[in-house]
Amino acid sequence: MQVAVLALQGAFIEHERMLEKLGVPSFEIRQRSDLERPFDGLILPGGESTVQGKLLRELELFDPLRERIAGGLPVFGTCAGLLLLAGRIENDPRTHFATMDIVATRNAYGRQLGSFHTVADCKGMGRIPMTFIRAPYIASVGGDAEALAAVDDRIVAARQGKQLVTAFHPELNDDLSVHRAFLQMI
Ligand code: GLN
Repeated sequence: MQVAVLALQGAFIEHERMLEKLGVPSFEIRQRSDLERPFDGLILPGGESTVQGKLLRELELFDPLRERIAGGLPVFGTCAGLLLLAGRIENDPRTHFATMDIVATRNAYGRQLGSFHTVADCKGMGRIPMTFIRAPYIASVGGDAEALAAVDDRIVAARQGKQLVTAFHPELNDDLSVHRAFLQMI
């Protein structure tokens, strides 16, 4: 198994470290030629979704990756990665891959101010640490999308087929549960 990590901007190295701890080889996607390497899953890291969306298009990574995600490639998006996958963003006219039937709200979570940390249940993973940094939340799920976790009555994790998203950053804690759950989807 080999997992690709989108490495245009944001917290990608932290995901690579989590995969390393789980003994799974990974490589970075930085340019179009990186797509020639085989990979079985893709991680979209946190960062700034508008910057990532712009770079994805400029580097001509957008269409080939969208096609693969829509075709069933297992993908795990954290925070900005969640926004890249959201079918609609309530407070932003732009969408990106838009392959998930979820409506996201940008920069709206974090007890409204910046960042916070908590511990909460995530379906199939038990109680896990959750670190939120200017995070989005999921305003609603539709279609086959299923909510997996909620904090303060906001949905903060969801799954639809082979797509998994968290509004929080599991790569910033030691708990490997979410990455392990993603690897099981591959
Ligand atoms: N606020 C960022 C965005 O809108 C997401 C924050 C994060 O990834 N930590 O893209």
